[in-house]
Amino acid sequence: MGYSKKNVNSVYEDFERIRDENKAQAESRLFEVYAKCPEIKAIDKELSRVGLDIFGATMMGKEGLEKRLNELQEKNELLQQRRIELLRDMGYDADYTDIKYNCPLCMDTGYQGAKMCQCLKTALTLKGYESSGILNLLKSQSFESFSIDVYPQECQSIMQKNYKKLHKFAENFETNKEFFLLAGGTGLGKTHLSTSVAKVLIEKGYDVVYEIAQNIFSDFDTDRFRDRYSDSELLSEKYLDCDLLIIDDLGTEIVTNYTVSYLYNIINTRINKKLPIIISTNLSAKEIKAMYHERITSRLFGEFTVIKFEGCDIRKKKISG
Ligand SMILES: [Zn+2]
Repeated sequence: MGYSKKNVNSVYEDFERIRDENKAQAESRLFEVYAKCPEIKAIDKELSRVGLDIFGATMMGKEGLEKRLNELQEKNELLQQRRIELLRDMGYDADYTDIKYNCPLCMDTGYQGAKMCQCLKTALTLKGYESSGILNLLKSQSFESFSIDVYPQECQSIMQKNYKKLHKFAENFETNKEFFLLAGGTGLGKTHLSTSVAKVLIEKGYDVVYEIAQNIFSDFDTDRFRDRYSDSELLSEKYLDCDLLIIDDLGTEIVTNYTVSYLYNIINTRINKKLPIIISTNLSAKEIKAMYHERITSRLFGEFTVIKFEGCDIRKKKISG
């Protein structure tokens, strides 16, 4: 999943390539403009000279400094204006020769100051999906591709309701910080609908982490974890701080005191921070209560909206056509 060293390096390389490409494209637009309009070339030369003069003026002592700087500033502005006019005359925008960034917020560096830019987080998440095979799910599973018709008549209304609830959640994510427990048998669309939510949110630029329960716990197996993640920030980034965490197949992991307290920490921290979780499970409420400590079940049944996927067997319908 996301944020492995390998993925981080690969995404950094992608960003570097994007920066190089955008810079090269800006340069080629500049050469094109110079060829068409030598006056712009002369202006650019003059502008860099003014830049040097401004630097020089500050070295000449304080006396008359403000006046000298104002004059140079004025000269600079006139040259810029003339440059824009010439570009407009040729039918170009004022910023035609500037570098066009894929992400103007971070200028394709991936960082805004010391803070990771959302574009880098999203790239890391997508890279994580890619390396874990989830990208394929995202390609085939979306709200658009969710078909009610594959369900037997008797459970279509329940599926329609489940679809609507999760679709609404994804659409209103900014204000709707709900927690969901999707419960029901295999093949009833739990993964399809939670993947659909993930897709909508990733496309909106949210940081979504999708993981199968047993992988979450094996991630925390320290040796493997240290090998896969480059620094301590990453675990909290991954499960505690992402905008939406999707835990698939809860109940398939080996339950120990250790996994229980780890799971409790994730659920509790995210509830306190109002950062939604979608958990899906094949277990019944009774089985969940038997398997997990009361402090987890009280959270699951107290804070989560339980969505039941039940009342039909989709495989019967598929077999019968
Ligand atoms: Zn950015």
